[in-house]
Amino acid sequence: MSNNRFADIILPLAVRGRFTYMIPENLVEIVRPGMMVSVQFGSRRLYSGIVCKVHDKSPEIKNIKSIINVRDNTSLINKLQLTLWQWISEYYLCSEGEVMKAAIPGEISQNIFKPRLETFIKLSRKYTEDELNAILDNLKRAPRQQELLSSYLRITGYATGTEIFPISKSALLTESQSSAVILKVLVKRGILVTDDQPVPGIPETDGYKEPLKKLSDAQSTAWGEIKSQFREKDIVLLHGVTSSGKTEIYIHLIEEQLKQGKQILYLLPEIALTTQIIDRLRRHFGAVTGIFHSRFSAHEKVEIWNRVAENDPLYCYKLILGVRSSLFLPFSNLGLIIVDEEHDGSYKQQDPAPRYHARDSAIMLASMHKAKVILGSATPSVESYNNAMKGKYGLTELKERFGFIKLPSIILANTREAYRKKLMVSNFTPELLQAIDTALGKDEQIILFRNRRGFSPYIECSECGWIPVCVHCAVNLTYHKGIGKLVCHYCGYAISMPSECGNCHSSAMVTRGFGTEKIEDEIKIVFPAARVARMDQDTTRNKNSFNKLIRAFEERRIDILIGTQMISKGLDFENLTVVGILNADNLLNYPDFRAHERSFQLMEQVSGRAGRRQKQGNVVIQTSDPANKIIRLVLRHDYVSMFRIQAEERMAFNYPPFCRMVKISIKHRDRAQLNYYSDTLGRDLKAIFGKRVLGPESPVISQVQSWYIKTILIKIEREKPPARAKHLIIEAIDRLEKEKGASALKIILDVDPY
Ligand code: ADP
Ligand code: ZN
Ligand code: ZN
Repeated sequence: MSNNRFADIILPLAVRGRFTYMIPENLVEIVRPGMMVSVQFGSRRLYSGIVCKVHDKSPEIKNIKSIINVRDNTSLINKLQLTLWQWISEYYLCSEGEVMKAAIPGEISQNIFKPRLETFIKLSRKYTEDELNAILDNLKRAPRQQELLSSYLRITGYATGTEIFPISKSALLTESQSSAVILKVLVKRGILVTDDQPVPGIPETDGYKEPLKKLSDAQSTAWGEIKSQFREKDIVLLHGVTSSGKTEIYIHLIEEQLKQGKQILYLLPEIALTTQIIDRLRRHFGAVTGIFHSRFSAHEKVEIWNRVAENDPLYCYKLILGVRSSLFLPFSNLGLIIVDEEHDGSYKQQDPAPRYHARDSAIMLASMHKAKVILGSATPSVESYNNAMKGKYGLTELKERFGFIKLPSIILANTREAYRKKLMVSNFTPELLQAIDTALGKDEQIILFRNRRGFSPYIECSECGWIPVCVHCAVNLTYHKGIGKLVCHYCGYAISMPSECGNCHSSAMVTRGFGTEKIEDEIKIVFPAARVARMDQDTTRNKNSFNKLIRAFEERRIDILIGTQMISKGLDFENLTVVGILNADNLLNYPDFRAHERSFQLMEQVSGRAGRRQKQGNVVIQTSDPANKIIRLVLRHDYVSMFRIQAEERMAFNYPPFCRMVKISIKHRDRAQLNYYSDTLGRDLKAIFGKRVLGPESPVISQVQSWYIKTILIKIEREKPPARAKHLIIEAIDRLEKEKGASALKIILDVDPY
């Protein structure tokens, strides 16, 4: 009999620590690390937990409880995943249970092992090209059927002589944005057939694969450099201007890893970006390519999880394209992690814990697998570029766009002057209107960027200056015209648009400022013939809405696309020649040490969408301050100077990357209580860390969802290992939590805040 009678278990709770349970006799031979088990915690509740260690050390507690049962006889979580969870919990100061909750969404833990049947769709027989063309021709009058069949052919890459490749019904309908009804007709007509198969174990034959593109000289050189740097370094920063062909280099690196039988994780900061890249990857790598993000249903997530864990070469995913949470998939054999747009702030999770940075966690994950990391960006983060300068990372640069197309030319449009001379047409300068007009005349496309959604950021009484604010948060309510409501962007609180002032009852309420919705309205008035669409949080709530908008723009069914940061990066449109940045000023005036870096990145990235294929693009930046030094740098596409200036400033004032930061947010529903407790914690921390403590102070938004907020920042020296300082911080918080009445506080720790 085994002596290992105890199991340390991670439970999905925000409580630090692991929990020890007894392994009952009948399970002693079965329970292993990584398994999911049911246990009782607290007085009654049952939880699914993950076993992380099996041992024979009896804990010093009375009435130790026993594991109730195991959820399955195999391990759900592998050793490397457990190591990653532990690292994240220690580094980001959260519980392993919180990491567990992020890593295995609730649905997965319920369904993970259940095999299920899935319907697959395939061609009814091998058609020749002529036959297919005849069929497609025939369907001309049934465009939706034609579209669905075309989608099937596109996705599977079917061509004369290749094998027929079945594709899951749900995937086909998702990708083609078609409906089950349309599909039924095609099946009835005998063109497609359905086939129910258990999952896993689908005999997927691979579709046609397009050979890789031949790299340009500059790309080949960069590719060679990356590989030779990988011999000495684990991490290489690929700094290539927008549209220099970074993605093609990744594709070449992926192919080499696949040939060696390794897994590859390709991270992107935003779901919108996966749409285009997945097509590019599947074209070359076919069925081994999986995609993962939060919009998938529970079933789909389970399938992806299983296929990453799978070894069967016909069924497994080797290449995963995903957003930050895909770090938690059950990889066993990673060879390479690509972090594209590595500078992007969306890689940092804000809420809830774990508040991890996916780039930095990816670097840890890679080291656990002895895998390499490539960080790619046209505008690297100051942190990563600094690491490259210090020689910690390798550095490879691509200075020209692919095809020697020039970087877009940038026109600064002075809004202050245009207002003074009465040349503004609603929120558009003559320069921007001119550029749009010219592009429309040539059937070219336009993107307009505005980093605020809604119609107007606030409304105001023109008589007395009264502004409606949220009742739960210290923010103005944003007017959304489409739904006729004022909405809080922090808590969702919404009221109808008031017909009169809440203070003086005047009916002279006016909208102030402008968001994407207003831009959409106005541009339609100025260019009534243009086809206009908008891409922001409000228009992309459905699962397929990103797909639809991006396809429509690719297929030139939209002339002008208005959007927030989701259109600002990574997208590659052939016919897009003009980009307008509607208001650069509010990007620059944000009180944060990263504001200048961020606004440079944003402007450079959104500019980078213009003129990527045939000819140089045009960018119009509207600003009231054309002399601004960051804008001058964007004008010259001068990343390196931006880096130098930022690095000097941050060194002088001791900000990251020259120190580490931990941010403590303290929340209380009562302002006076909050002040008392935050001052207490501040004093305690200052006694330990001295001048390294900033605050407590009120953040820009000092109240959210009825909680008042204070923040304390602690700067920790780079040179010292951070674990000791973090430990002292935790101890100080423990002391505060022991104070009378402190249980009404919420304390949030954020390591490396963004
Ligand atoms: P980046 O990732 O640097 O923004 P991309 O890889 O998207 O750049 O390349 C920009 C455009 O140039 C894309 O449309 C891509 O298909 C094309 N391109 C890049 N490299 C090649 C190549 N070697 N052969 C053909 N087309 C290429
Ligand atoms: Zn609110
Ligand atoms: Zn009023």
